[in-house]
Amino acid sequence: MSEARSLPSFDNTAVAFAHKSNWQLRKAKWLFRSFGFTWLLKHGNTLSKWALLLGFKGLIRNTIFEQFCGGESAESSEKAIENLHQLGVGTILDYSVEGEETEDVFETTAREIAVSIRKAGSDPRIPFAVFKATGIMPFDLLVAQSSGQALTKEQQAIWDRAETRFMGLCALAEECQVRLFIDAEESWIQPAIDALAETAMLKHNHSRCLIYNTIQLYRHDRLAYLKEQIQKGQHLLGFKLVRGAYMEKERERAQKYGYPSPIQVNKESTDRDYDLAVMHCLEHRNRVSICIGTHNEKSSLLAAQYLVDHAVDASDSVYFSQLLGMSDHISFNLSSKGFRVAKYVPYGPIASVMPYLLRRAQENSSAKGQAGRELVLIETEIVRRKKSA
Ligand SMILES: Cc1cc2nc3c(=O)[nH]c(=O)nc-3n(C[C@H](O)[C@H](O)[C@H](O)COP(=O)(O)OP(=O)(O)OC[C@H]3O[C@@H](n4cnc5c(N)ncnc54)[C@H](O)[C@@H]3O)c2cc1C
Repeated sequence: MSEARSLPSFDNTAVAFAHKSNWQLRKAKWLFRSFGFTWLLKHGNTLSKWALLLGFKGLIRNTIFEQFCGGESAESSEKAIENLHQLGVGTILDYSVEGEETEDVFETTAREIAVSIRKAGSDPRIPFAVFKATGIMPFDLLVAQSSGQALTKEQQAIWDRAETRFMGLCALAEECQVRLFIDAEESWIQPAIDALAETAMLKHNHSRCLIYNTIQLYRHDRLAYLKEQIQKGQHLLGFKLVRGAYMEKERERAQKYGYPSPIQVNKESTDRDYDLAVMHCLEHRNRVSICIGTHNEKSSLLAAQYLVDHAVDASDSVYFSQLLGMSDHISFNLSSKGFRVAKYVPYGPIASVMPYLLRRAQENSSAKGQAGRELVLIETEIVRRKKSA
């Protein structure tokens, strides 16, 4: 990786879409356009169930699934992993199945996450593994542990098994020398997740930073939490920095129960704290490793500018990350300039990842927002290719 890195241009669509054939580009254009049909999104859940029942699995597989998912299993995600690798981008396999809350399902999910950790340990194209606490632990017990509520004997036994699953995955990450992200979730279960993540970091981040907690900067209290962690911890710390995915839910719950919303007053405050958090971590990079998990061009450019200005070499301690099928113009333009980038590659059986896919569709439904930007870039590249043909 070059020491004299220069800043990328996120307008370079040739680099952004080098991995897509003309046909794939046209399909992506059609897909992002279809997200503009609000009735489609409103009934997406029902429509997708019917589509699967009526045998339209192939249609889903070749469109929305192909855009946002790697495959139905870790093994069948090989093509996506190799495509990213060819363009200098790593893969973070994300088992995105959202199942029932039973101990059997938690065990199956934990086994699948263990497969992804082992795979990352033996495949240099996969720099990280990831998991969500709610995939392997009951939500209500995370709520109880977060609020200091006493557990019954039976609940305690369930919690102990859940904690063993959580810590088992962190221990496996150390055994395989794999860096492991713990995703951030709703604020009313986050204290329990933080406590587990802090313990795991202390236990496993010795000579290398292996365990990363996630900080959501759409919360007004998280920059202070991040700074406190960095100030008091003498060991290696890992943080994935994101803005946060549960804004509406957070606001609605706060209103329902009459407590102050944990969310920032406006987007500008979220953006300000996000960039401050990135800078604070970069200034402590001797001890702090980060993953800048964002589709925001300004934040990505600001971080890249810092790395260029301070001649920080492309060490493992600073990564950029986006989701598969989104913001390729950020991922591939950053990697083309020598920055470290890895994309979340969700996988799982089509029927089980539908909730994930519908969320991606909803997130991309605003013409002003990300979808508009994706569409403009795709259309620009289609025109550019026609002109240069
Ligand atoms: C690699 C990766 C990993 C991720 N992991 C997690 C995770 O573990 N947990 C999690 O919760 N999310 C996670 N996310 C999702 C992330 O939190 C954001 O929802 C998403 O990336 C959009 O934010 P942005 O920075 O990309 O872009 P932007 O489009 O710049 O920001 C949109 C975000 O800004 C915030 N926002 C919007 N309007 C307002 C407002 N009026 N007031 C205050 N804030 C506002 C919201 O967080 C919204 O999602 C992840 C995203 C990526 C790319």
